[in-house]
Amino acid sequence: MNKDKIKIITNPVVCQSLAVIRDKNTDSQGVRIATRKITRALLYEASKNLPLVDKEVETPVAKCVVKDIAEDITVIISPILRAGLIFTDEAIDILPNACIRHIGMYRDEKTLKPVWYYNKVPVLTTEPEKSYVYITDPMLATGNSMLEAVKLYVDKKVPVKNIKCISIISAPQGIELIQKEFPEIDIITASLDEKLNEKGYIVPGMGDAGDRIFNTVVV
Ligand code: URA
Repeated sequence: MNKDKIKIITNPVVCQSLAVIRDKNTDSQGVRIATRKITRALLYEASKNLPLVDKEVETPVAKCVVKDIAEDITVIISPILRAGLIFTDEAIDILPNACIRHIGMYRDEKTLKPVWYYNKVPVLTTEPEKSYVYITDPMLATGNSMLEAVKLYVDKKVPVKNIKCISIISAPQGIELIQKEFPEIDIITASLDEKLNEKGYIVPGMGDAGDRIFNTVVV
């Protein structure tokens, strides 16, 4: 595993929120609130690669030159449905000009391989090198879905350096799978956990992120 390309966000607010979402006694609303706090921190980290330009503004006191995110780029937030959706509200708050390109994949329970059911990402004809893609999924477990999503954008000619994989909790297997094919890709996460269990769940993880976020845990 190339640890240089993994950014683990250890801000105390993130640590505290992680403790909340891991706790099996936290209800769905509690999970959502804490998850959003984490996603915001991860997205700020991801946005470090956006190009800046100088611009002039006038404060109530004087004119000055400030930095602004370049306008000739496209920021694409690509949540892997369904749990990845939890990133979108924070993402468009922080990056109001971003477009959201949903990616629909579910995990076949037996093979743990991703099965596509929704992909409307168009050909990125207008300068794909000016596209900045943040693929979001709270759990980077086997890495199969994340890898498929990365390949989707690489096939559309987005430079790998412009693509970031963002997850809240990651397993070593998922990271290794992605790094095997794309050693230079940036992975941003709040925790690198121990392992996957035989059902493909991250240990210790937080259980099924989608079920816990969307209150569909069957008891
Ligand atoms: N997906 C989840 O929601 N949780 C896991 O632990 C692994 C994959």
